[in-house]
Amino acid sequence: MEIAPGVHSVPLDIGGFMGFFAPNVYLLLGERRALIDSGWADEMSRNARLEYLKAQGASTLAYIVITHAHDDHMGGAEGLKKATGGKVVVHRCDAESGRRYLGSKEVDVMVEDGDVLDLGGLELEVIHTPGHSPGHICIYLRPQRILFSGDQIPGMGTTAIAPPHGDMVQYVESLRKLLLWDIQMICPGHGPVIKEPQRKINELIQHRLEREEQVLSGIERGMGTIDELVGEIYPELDERLIPSARGQVLAHLVKLEHEGRVSQFEEGRYARR
Ligand SMILES: [Zn+2]
Repeated sequence: MEIAPGVHSVPLDIGGFMGFFAPNVYLLLGERRALIDSGWADEMSRNARLEYLKAQGASTLAYIVITHAHDDHMGGAEGLKKATGGKVVVHRCDAESGRRYLGSKEVDVMVEDGDVLDLGGLELEVIHTPGHSPGHICIYLRPQRILFSGDQIPGMGTTAIAPPHGDMVQYVESLRKLLLWDIQMICPGHGPVIKEPQRKINELIQHRLEREEQVLSGIERGMGTIDELVGEIYPELDERLIPSARGQVLAHLVKLEHEGRVSQFEEGRYARR
């Protein structure tokens, strides 16, 4: 499906990963071609992606650019690399975990903030946006003002920030950094395309600040442990979601501790400073 000139969302009609858990894979068509992210590793997803590439005359790729080294974004990289010859591109800080996903295979290209990948007629600018993972990157197409946001800005819901791998200070800083870019459309790693980028980014920052206030206010009222805070902030939470809620509360506590606003006066028990 073409979403802008030379920019396709590679559809996945079959396969078990639907809804929020279906990762988006994008195909960029310059004189040479690249994918942004590679989806899950399962054969059905991979074959469906390859079919689509073939139909677009894109059987060979220059790059497979990975926004971050998580299974749903990087799992398919090795298989797609074998089939298309695309070089696997990962930020230096995620390359180690990237190598783990790719088994013994090396990450082909390690990038840093500000690097540019030239497809001929299409330039991919790398923006380092740590937080969800240490080496998370977004990709910017300048003339088109399109941002590929990976999990930094999801098309729906919010992104899990799980310490120590995830870092809430960095995540919020990365959101603020993206506000400085002239973006007209965001193509996220999950969910639909975002047409009002500035509003979405501001909403995400606002959401995290509100959560942070809830954590602080809970602590002030004597709820000093993660479990007490989870019970307070998410009173009717489905049991299956408790581990991820604990992770989010911990991420806020780590941020607040880092900022000197709370401290642990005994292991696992927090108070205002
Ligand atoms: Zn992720």
